[in-house]
Amino acid sequence: MVANTTKVAAGRDRRPPKCPDCTARGDSATLTLTHDDGCPVGRGQDETSAGDREFFETHPNAPHMVRPLGWAEGIALKTLGAVPPHTDLTGWRVMVRQLAPGVRTRRYFPPRGGA
Ligand SMILES: [Zn+2]
Repeated sequence: MVANTTKVAAGRDRRPPKCPDCTARGDSATLTLTHDDGCPVGRGQDETSAGDREFFETHPNAPHMVRPLGWAEGIALKTLGAVPPHTDLTGWRVMVRQLAPGVRTRRYFPPRGGA
């Protein structure tokens, strides 16, 4: 099994990220976090990523899609310091763009009217 890796934009909190559910320690230079096999957060991210892949396989001409933020993505955003740890992520959305098969970017948005 391939471990799930999350990467967020640089320029945020530079402390080494640490998963709350496994022994994963991040790389503060690249802001990536590779989960242990079986980590619930890693598994949740794998499932979300699989759903995104399936969307673009069944909608090959779609430039992007918008969906609710997945629970594991929320944990990853907090773990990696992309949002403050006590941010209420209720109602946040994700815009997913496929650059090439298997290569997708994600932008995270608070609910309309603010976070
Ligand atoms: Zn983990």
